[in-house]
Amino acid sequence: MPTKTGVLAEGKSKRLHTTEDPNLLIQEFKDDATAFNGVKKASIKSKGVFNCDISTRIFHLLEEAGIATHLVENLSATEQLVKRVDIVMIEFIVRNRVAGSLAKRYGMDEGPELPRPIIEYFVKSDELGDPLIGRDCAEALGYADFATIDECTELTLKINQLMLAFWAQLGVNLVDFKIEFGRDAEGNLLLADEITPDGCRLWDAKTNEKLDKDVFRRDLGDLSETYEKVAKMVADAIPL
Ligand code: 5GP
Repeated sequence: MPTKTGVLAEGKSKRLHTTEDPNLLIQEFKDDATAFNGVKKASIKSKGVFNCDISTRIFHLLEEAGIATHLVENLSATEQLVKRVDIVMIEFIVRNRVAGSLAKRYGMDEGPELPRPIIEYFVKSDELGDPLIGRDCAEALGYADFATIDECTELTLKINQLMLAFWAQLGVNLVDFKIEFGRDAEGNLLLADEITPDGCRLWDAKTNEKLDKDVFRRDLGDLSETYEKVAKMVADAIPL
């Protein structure tokens, strides 16, 4: 069993620990929830446990479908052993419906299905508030080279197809989500970070009930109860 040797990085919802092995890290999911770039904060009961379980199962599903990820194994209710990667400094957002910042930016109502999935790039920077960036600008400013951006874009579209089918089978519309990639010591591009309701919009296909962090952002109810419900659906669908 690998042990923690120090804290490499701490974000809003996770902590990354080093281990004795320089190529392996422990990713710990916290109960903290934040919104609006950290302006709204709360501790949500068992959020770390629910998100660790949801992300572990979804990464297993994606691995089975041929997507390389950083996940090695689950270590505890809130911890995963992951491969150390050099993270690509761009957040990849894929959208299947109009919602969130897209709706706001173009003055649209939330909900309409897009004619095809669209991908947007955002700079991974809390300090800058994760600004939207174009492909050319991202390359010219050194956030990632064109080959990496294009490889991540292709993978994001593939992951979206797998995730759309997965959530549809659970009666949930996958509206949009954010993913991150990194390169391991051998230069392989891996899906990193997490896929949880913290970074996805999930709407019940029949009732439109929100099953994601918008419950917290918009004060729509009890986030812990929402995540518990999602964790149960995912655990029933993806046995480990
Ligand atoms: P929007 O751009 O509409 O705010 O977000 C689009 C999607 O990406 C949503 O599902 C949202 O949860 C996710 N997302 C955007 N930025 C972040 C981020 O910094 N962290 C996380 N966890 N998700 C994000």
